[in-house]
Amino acid sequence: MATIPSSIWNDVLGHVKLNHPSLVRGWFTQLIPTGIDQGVMIVRASNSAQSRYLVKHCRDAFIEAAQAALGRLVTVEFEVTQESPAQEPDDEAILAFRPVAETIRLNEHFTFDNFVTGPCNRLAHAAARAISDDPGRTYNPFFVHGSVGLGKTHLIQAICHAIREANPDAKCHYISCEMFTNDFIESVENGALHQFRYRYRNADILVIDDVQFLAARERSQEEFFHTFNTLTQSQRQIILSADCPPPEIPSLEERLVSRFNSGLVAFLDRPCFETRMAIIRKKAKLRCIEIPEDVVRFVADRIDTNNRDIEGALVKLDAMSQTESKPITAELAQEALGTMSTRPVSVSTIMEVVASSMNVKVSDLQSKRRAKSVSHPRQICMFLARELTTLSLEQIGGYFGGRDHTTVLHAHRNITKLLETEPDLPTQIEEIRSRVRHTTN
Ligand code: ADP
Ligand code: MG
Repeated sequence: MATIPSSIWNDVLGHVKLNHPSLVRGWFTQLIPTGIDQGVMIVRASNSAQSRYLVKHCRDAFIEAAQAALGRLVTVEFEVTQESPAQEPDDEAILAFRPVAETIRLNEHFTFDNFVTGPCNRLAHAAARAISDDPGRTYNPFFVHGSVGLGKTHLIQAICHAIREANPDAKCHYISCEMFTNDFIESVENGALHQFRYRYRNADILVIDDVQFLAARERSQEEFFHTFNTLTQSQRQIILSADCPPPEIPSLEERLVSRFNSGLVAFLDRPCFETRMAIIRKKAKLRCIEIPEDVVRFVADRIDTNNRDIEGALVKLDAMSQTESKPITAELAQEALGTMSTRPVSVSTIMEVVASSMNVKVSDLQSKRRAKSVSHPRQICMFLARELTTLSLEQIGGYFGGRDHTTVLHAHRNITKLLETEPDLPTQIEEIRSRVRHTTN
């Protein structure tokens, strides 16, 4: 779970105070933002009375504030600090409690109704639908892969929503791969492997997001292999997502690669123009934003990287229209998205901009030097090259002293992870991205 920087939390509280003053209570300052995970911000209250008040009256206000502060669709849930020492829970309670607490947090917007289909995702979507109708029997496992922001989490959470709706008793566990591995390590350290196994091997549907994080975690891979076998042998459904197909996950054991390949492997591609238009209309409707057709076209034309960027553009446009009290028009869009154009960029431009912004030499970026002062900017270059160009991983590696595709993949993942945890990094990368866009190749 990523921590919430205090600046973001202050923005959230500030937004609630400004826009919903009648809801604000003195004890709001004692609320603790526990973290954010898979689009859900968790806020901890000191007692159950506070939590009841928040759930009953303030949920929408906090969701609105969190979305404004983070610039993306998120939801908010409240939890309570343990009020009094609870009675020692019995074994069964321990076993039963954790899966629900840890896996229940789905993003409420990630449903099939809100998922736009097009040539880029039709197969994956059809398979996901079929699995929701008959889990464990159609495609098992279901492995969906694609680059960042193309809808993997949305699609696999949509399956969970649909299954839970059709069968509220189904034990459908959605979890990030990082949570799985952390849970495993913790269980080993605490001598609680037995409970760990009970939790995972008892699921009817086990959904693990971003399994590329299993890379180089040998013991977690071993454990996952056995979990996988136990579940599939009794026809329980396994759903996995990753940013690349199974054989490209670095240092993934061969037996896991073959297990992952044994069901359906579906690919999410970049959306085409029409799909981007449909996504913009859908997201605008969800956010109650009035957006004329010529602006829909304009945004779809400008933003062709991924669906997350489309959403970011829409948020920016909406914020600008509100602060300037102007309706959303083509002119406003031009002004708001000027820096978000998707003109093709070259790796050399990226290297030059990173070198000058981060005070390193281009020749260092291309060298084999491993000092952090060089390797970090180099990883940022590789990250941006993957985001902003259509070059393959091998081609990108070629620009950096002939590094191989796994190095580029590793760099991309590392920066993606750091973007969640390093408060200043998103702004720094956004500035570099904007300068790259404005530099003539
Ligand atoms: P990933 O997990 O692949 O990085 P996400 O599932 O988090 O991507 O999607 C990023 C954003 O784009 C989310 O807000 C999601 O709702 C939106 N999105 C992605 N694909 C679609 C789609 N096909 N239809 C509607 N929204 C989508
Ligand atoms: Mg995801």
